[in-house]
Amino acid sequence: MKLLFVTSEAAPYSKTGGLADVSSGLPAALAALGVQVKVVTPLYRAVAEGDHPLATLKSTFQVNFRGRELHGRVSVHRLQPDLSYYFIGRDEFFDRSFLYGTPQGDYFDNADRFIFFSRAALAACRLLRFRPDIVHCHDWQAALIPALLKHSPESHPFWQKTRSVLTIHNLAYQGVFSQEYMPVSGLPPDLFTMEGLEFYGQMNFLKAGIVFADRITTVSKTYAKEICTPEFGYGLDGVLRQHKASLTGILNGVDYASWDPADDPHIARHYSRSDLSGKLLCKQELRQIYGLTGLPGNPLIGMVARLVEQKGLDIILEAVDGILKTGADLVILGSGEDRYHKELGALARRHKGRIGVRIGFDQALAHKIEAGADIFLMPSRYEPCGLNQMYSLKYGTIPLVRATGGLEDTVREFDPKTGRGNGFKFKTYSAPALISSVRRATALYKQKDMWASLVKNAMRADFSWDTAARKYLSLYERVLG
Ligand code: ADP
Repeated sequence: MKLLFVTSEAAPYSKTGGLADVSSGLPAALAALGVQVKVVTPLYRAVAEGDHPLATLKSTFQVNFRGRELHGRVSVHRLQPDLSYYFIGRDEFFDRSFLYGTPQGDYFDNADRFIFFSRAALAACRLLRFRPDIVHCHDWQAALIPALLKHSPESHPFWQKTRSVLTIHNLAYQGVFSQEYMPVSGLPPDLFTMEGLEFYGQMNFLKAGIVFADRITTVSKTYAKEICTPEFGYGLDGVLRQHKASLTGILNGVDYASWDPADDPHIARHYSRSDLSGKLLCKQELRQIYGLTGLPGNPLIGMVARLVEQKGLDIILEAVDGILKTGADLVILGSGEDRYHKELGALARRHKGRIGVRIGFDQALAHKIEAGADIFLMPSRYEPCGLNQMYSLKYGTIPLVRATGGLEDTVREFDPKTGRGNGFKFKTYSAPALISSVRRATALYKQKDMWASLVKNAMRADFSWDTAARKYLSLYERVLG
């Protein structure tokens, strides 16, 4: 089977969040199952300046864009015979400091950038004479593709047998832009209806994917149900209910080659389920990095996240005093919205020695937090899948999460009576509910034997990509009939 995998970020080349990890783990797992995979993603500045052995193809592709023939370059990194990453180069769109926008807000021309990218991905395929059976598109940045395949100059006989799959990694990001982009997209004006991609008078890229893809998936079973409700649907729940028959939830996997405390180059000392002694050293190092001065035996809560509303920052800010009262210290790594940078910075100054905050994107520090913390905090308002809780299970760092989306599907409340469970969960999105589960966690932390068996349960987790890849493969096979 031939697969084109279109994504706006892919680790280790470019990353703002979980999509990048999926775009490295899933293609590799599919290739291991015998699928021929070509991943297409933009050549951002970070990719071009990174240390990757890219080869740039001599020939270029063309996209007719705003009345001009725009040429684009394709660079390639061949990882294995059946797995290559192709990078779409066009400097005016992608040679920038960030992927989607600065901390002050989105780039003003994101519609142009990702219309170009989507059309370029298809043009590059034709340049490569690669006729995929399936085009698997991810999130709004690639969601016009199912519509382009069926209804545009790109819907050439070349694509006749190709089917499309859209994966929604986060429904809150939809790519909603002015109707004026319809002609830029190359799609016929008659698709601008309620049944098509119109959304309250504007164009909605993600809706185009939902309506025109042959299958829709999202990244956990619970999130697949949640997005069909008004609370989580961000205005698209009605459309999703209409397409419910073609919507499936498939949980993301973990790339254990990068996330395993027994073999992690970023952490102070390796450890495993059978020998946890190194974890204490990882904690010491983490406390040092953050300048914590409380008792070394205090439970240490860690958090790594994009600093956006979704991640539960408002209830964390409200719950801080209650959390500190339990005796726990807190370290946070993240970047995102300016207002949270400021508020968290102020928090760290106010509670110097007990709370540490680093603003920035730092992969090595993310690994150190996974290894060095005792408890990993994810009080998300919603969480399509969430990767960090799965990483933290492997690191014996107990996830404390709100019961939503993939967090609900991967974390089970520890029951001291039966000794079953791998973490702590709360339902109501509120500071008191968060504090009460921190109390449960820190109380259990004091019972060393109990805690040790909880850690052992957690480290048994296995979310390898192979399981998810087999589910995607059988979904592709069903789509192809
Ligand atoms: P989301 O996709 O919503 O950002 P996930 O939990 O699915 O959330 O994935 C987040 C990924 O991004 C994880 O691999 C996490 O370690 C990483 N990450 C997020 N913020 C940072 C940061 N500031 N520095 C390093 N890694 C980060």
